[in-house]
Amino acid sequence: MQPAIFIDRDDTLIHNIPYLSDPSKVVLTPGAGTTLAALAQAGFQIFLITNQSGIGRGYFTVHELNAVHDRLKELLRAFGVVLDGIYYCPHAPNQECNCRKPKTGMLEQACAEHRIDLTRSIMVGDGQQDIEMGKAFGLRTVQLRLKGVEKEDYHADLLITTLPEMLDFARATLAAKA
Ligand SMILES: [Mg+2]
Ligand SMILES: [Zn+2]
Repeated sequence: MQPAIFIDRDDTLIHNIPYLSDPSKVVLTPGAGTTLAALAQAGFQIFLITNQSGIGRGYFTVHELNAVHDRLKELLRAFGVVLDGIYYCPHAPNQECNCRKPKTGMLEQACAEHRIDLTRSIMVGDGQQDIEMGKAFGLRTVQLRLKGVEKEDYHADLLITTLPEMLDFARATLAAKA
């Protein structure tokens, strides 16, 4: 059983561009590559957990989403980072699925497919749905509030403005008794 970092995509791992479908526009947020490298080296698995309703709304295709994620993987590879899994909800809100955050379906799927120590795992994201989902699943939570991104304080366990600020918290979580 290995602990996991569950990480949101838009305005967490990469800068948000609404309904992004152009791989050339994928840009990592400050320190994202080095932070994931450090987390993986410390012993965390890393899973991307992202709502992509643009598919359900007909704005882009799964093929286009995969191209964006291929570009993301390429950018991370430069830091020696390989994601352990990518989970996305393709549904529009009115489809009432079980995977659109803050629902926990994507976390359940990750747990079914990997051996994850949930007692030492962390959800990190910028949105209320990220923090709500993490709490609902009993995870520790980290809210990233990037400079220039207007978000309230959603009362996560830790509030940060760049990803590297979560490393001490993550190491303490890892050291906690399972
Ligand atoms: Mg987000
Ligand atoms: Zn869904």
